[in-house]
Amino acid sequence: MTIRYDGRVAIVTGAGQGLGRSHAIELAKRGAKVVVNDLGGAKDGTGASSEAALAVVAEIEAAGGEAMANGANVANYAEVEAMVAAAMEKWGRVDILVNNAGILRDKSFIKGSMEDFQLVLNVHLMGSVYCTRACWEIMKEQEYGRIVVTTSSSGLYGNFGQTNYGSAKMGVIGMMNTLVQEGAKYNIRMNALAPTAGTRMTEGLMPEKVFELLTPETVTPAVLYLVSEDSPNRTILCAGAGSYAVAKIVETDGCWLTPEEQTPEGIAAHWDAITDPEGERALQAGFEQTGKMLTKAAAGLGIS
Ligand code: NAD
Repeated sequence: MTIRYDGRVAIVTGAGQGLGRSHAIELAKRGAKVVVNDLGGAKDGTGASSEAALAVVAEIEAAGGEAMANGANVANYAEVEAMVAAAMEKWGRVDILVNNAGILRDKSFIKGSMEDFQLVLNVHLMGSVYCTRACWEIMKEQEYGRIVVTTSSSGLYGNFGQTNYGSAKMGVIGMMNTLVQEGAKYNIRMNALAPTAGTRMTEGLMPEKVFELLTPETVTPAVLYLVSEDSPNRTILCAGAGSYAVAKIVETDGCWLTPEEQTPEGIAAHWDAITDPEGERALQAGFEQTGKMLTKAAAGLGIS
């Protein structure tokens, strides 16, 4: 089986270098027409240049593919809307959106400024919101859409000095969890990628040998699978150095406490049962949690 994207139009944000570049090149190689978006600024988000995006477009075209460069700042909704309009004008549809653009403003929580925190949220979280929103109606009408958000182990599990980044990266998971429900009847699927790669973002943070193992090209197959026709939905796929795994947010089965035990002391006394991993599972919607709790309460109180 060969997975291809002939006839599909893809937007990859932050595709001037690193992971985005690799995603864009591989999508184009497999038949997609690709909008190579990149603001072209520095790692901390300052500055702008069209050079990197144009170079990736040239590379795709030299290999016989179709691509267009776009310099929209994903944190600016008007620019994002113009980018999507340009793709529509040129190719008439948008099937795939890979929200990849990102910056870093690492500092321990108390040393970092609130402006930096806001900026990181604007690019990673609001950038993903804006791009997704600008494509949503089009995908709904087409009854086809495949969207990826890029999360991070820093959001899923935490990383010293990355409160701003981690918050944004968990935010995109929250967005996905709800949009998979709103997009289901329109054949819009959404998944998350948690990559690890040697790029400008991670340069200098790891030994050279490790950096060389973590090529973007080992991550890109995960994105390509997530935006394919038979993609999964609502998956957090982790990828790096040729390893692929799925991350899940699970909830323990927990236990119901009698009215007398519903105290901080009662919770302390039942902590082992509350945290017991036996029977824990990933819930598919917020109401499942409410349902589980009501079932336990009804059983405990003898209500049918
Ligand atoms: P990178 O710095 O090499 O590439 C990011 C690209 O995004 C750059 O080309 C940059 O110009 C572009 N960009 C930044 N702000 C933009 C904006 N406002 N609008 C449009 N383009 C913008 O970094 P990378 O490692 O390839 O990261 C890609 C994505 O993967 C990011 O979302 C990052 O947070 C995520 N990620 C990377 C790693 C890793 O190990 N490299 C780990 C976890 C998550």
